[in-house]
Amino acid sequence: MAGPCLWPDLTTKESLLPPESRMHPEMSEEVENLKANLLDQAQEISRLRSELGGTDLEKHRDLLAAENERLRQEMKAREGELRELRRQQGQCRGCTHLQENAVLQERLSQLQREAEEARAKLAELDVEVQQKTNRLAEVELRLKDSLAERAEEEERLSRRLRDSQETIASLKSQPQQIKYIIKTVEVESTKAKQALSESQSRNQYLQEQVGMQRQVLKEMEQQLQSSQKTAAQLRAQIAMYESELERAHGQMLEEMQAMEDEKNRAIEEAFSRAQVEMKAVHENLAGVRTNLLTLQPALRTLTHDYNSLKRQVRDFPLLLQETLRSARAEIGQAIEEVNNTNRELLRKYRRELQLRKKCHNELVRLKGNIRVFGRVRPITKEDGEGPEAANAVTFDANDDAVLHLLHKGKQVSFELDKVFPPQASQEEVFQEVQALVTSCIDGYNVCIFAYGQTGAGKTYTMEGTSANPGINQRALQLLFSEVRSKASDWDYAITVSVAEIYNEALRDLLGKEPQEKLEIKLCPDGSGQLYVPGLTEFRVQSVEDINKVFEFGHVKRVTECTNLNEHSSRSHALLIVTVHGLDRSTGLRTTGKLNLVDLAGSERVGRSGAEGSRLREAQYINKSLSALGDVIYALRSRQGHVPFRNSKLTYLLQDSLSGDSKTLMMVQVSPAEKNTSETLCSLKFAERVRSVELGPISRKAELASWPSQEQLEVTKGDVPGTAVSSSRGHASPSPGPPSGRATSIRRKLQTSGKLRPVPV
Ligand code: ADP
Ligand code: MG
Repeated sequence: MAGPCLWPDLTTKESLLPPESRMHPEMSEEVENLKANLLDQAQEISRLRSELGGTDLEKHRDLLAAENERLRQEMKAREGELRELRRQQGQCRGCTHLQENAVLQERLSQLQREAEEARAKLAELDVEVQQKTNRLAEVELRLKDSLAERAEEEERLSRRLRDSQETIASLKSQPQQIKYIIKTVEVESTKAKQALSESQSRNQYLQEQVGMQRQVLKEMEQQLQSSQKTAAQLRAQIAMYESELERAHGQMLEEMQAMEDEKNRAIEEAFSRAQVEMKAVHENLAGVRTNLLTLQPALRTLTHDYNSLKRQVRDFPLLLQETLRSARAEIGQAIEEVNNTNRELLRKYRRELQLRKKCHNELVRLKGNIRVFGRVRPITKEDGEGPEAANAVTFDANDDAVLHLLHKGKQVSFELDKVFPPQASQEEVFQEVQALVTSCIDGYNVCIFAYGQTGAGKTYTMEGTSANPGINQRALQLLFSEVRSKASDWDYAITVSVAEIYNEALRDLLGKEPQEKLEIKLCPDGSGQLYVPGLTEFRVQSVEDINKVFEFGHVKRVTECTNLNEHSSRSHALLIVTVHGLDRSTGLRTTGKLNLVDLAGSERVGRSGAEGSRLREAQYINKSLSALGDVIYALRSRQGHVPFRNSKLTYLLQDSLSGDSKTLMMVQVSPAEKNTSETLCSLKFAERVRSVELGPISRKAELASWPSQEQLEVTKGDVPGTAVSSSRGHASPSPGPPSGRATSIRRKLQTSGKLRPVPV
């Protein structure tokens, strides 16, 4: 810029230059200095221009703009990638990387925000740079102007200096004019001094200007530096964002790769599965094809069959009718045949039944219908102490049918069917008896007698105790269980009566009036059967019923007599069990009777001089026991006449003693020394009963009647029992009385009524 000219034109007033030489070098030095200053400033300006020239800033700006553009492009590319990823993500719903993607997206949007901010900052910086560039251009222009002005001034000053020098030289050559010239120069020199001071002030001003410009430049430098710093920071941030973006991109790529891998794997798996399934389907198809191929002929056959079946169905009703007719005829014939076979089988069965019965009878006959057991009770407290209570009975270890009695220093041996020692239990005794009891179910009549002196254990064997029951209760229990086991084919009814015979009077222990004497009568139907009008009969169905019956009978007996023990030892107690059976398949009816008799004491009271009622009792007992012996003997020896009527007991038991009935005599003995006489008597009685059926020869014996109790007494001390038994004769075998079985079978099965008189 061209400023106002402050220096005076020296060229025109050279003559005014002072003549003193000392002024010229000072000025020229000053001018040189100014020149040097100007040069310096110009150089400084050019240096500044080159250093901080607008071109560099522009370059920087251009670079930033290019960088910005590149970032924009990259951003666009990332957005494209993001879109692609979103699309893929949409395809991959429910994938496990969704969450990570969301995080990455969040991060990306944050980065985008930051990039946006950086971009804004960059724009601001751009504007700032632009402003600074403009200002710089202005400063440059001003500098240019001042430099031009300076050059002009310089030029003018040097011109004037030259003029002055020329004037000085001309003045030297014209000394007369010197004073004037000097004055002029002095005048000129004051002017020049003024101009110099002006130019100095001007120079001062310019220097100030330059200083200001330098200050401005310095500020601009600082601003540039800060903007460079900001730009570097931004670049670093951008680099960070880039790396972040790079990392996100890398992660995304990895994710995409993983997803791709997973997808490929899934596709491969699906493919291989599909291949396997395809293979199976192919195989199935092949199987179906072959099936179809094989089915075709089958279908043809089926169609053929169907057609023929259709024809058959058409003809079926006729065929059916015909077939039914013939089937009916065949079935009728078959039924007829079956019926015939059944009839034949039934006939054979009945014949077999009779045969079996016959065989059984024969067996029983051979074994002996009368069996005699001996039971020795243990020594009890009642036997006392000392020699009288000593044991007099011993047994044979090798033979359970033999027993030895030490009587008056002599040992007498007896052989029975079985001997029970004192330690034998009720159970063991019953085991030997139970076959007899069960035969009652088959329709046989059975009598079991307990014989022996009072206190020998008769009641214990028959009744027992509640904790250890005897034959009576066990027999009924067995009957119940047998009846139950046959219930599928047979109907059974079991009835019981309890009676006693005291002094030859029969009394009903279950009746309302036990004192009433009952009579034994012939049935009015002419069958020859006996019955006891008024004898109570209880139908029992369980063990509880039996217990009630026994209880009832026992109570009656207790209330009727003052001393039961004594009374019971003087009377015969009878438990009569009747079993009526009906075979449902054959209609066969059976009736068996089981008589369980606890006999009166067999001790010989008569001999001890008893009188009155005691003697009468003894006589009755003696008579009835002798009569029992007689009957048994007559039966076994097949005598034509059996004296049943000689006692109430035998008369009552007539049915159950005759024919194919079975009898067991349980002879009870005491082992005590003081009882040996009675024991001897009882054992002799037992052996005689048994000896009756010894072999065919013995049946020919001729003994007409059974020894009385007295007779037994007389023979007691003679010889050992074996000798006695062998000395006895036997009657020849003769047909027994007509069997009571047939008539008993004919009896009607009684099924109702608890208290009812029954025929005996
Ligand atoms: P009986 O009826 O012949 O008069 P009991 O049966 O009343 O004789 O018996 C007389 C006593 O001997 C009773 O106390 C009875 O318990 C006991 N007794 C009889 N036989 C046996 C035995 N085998 N075991 C244990 N005690 C017995
Ligand atoms: Mg008794």
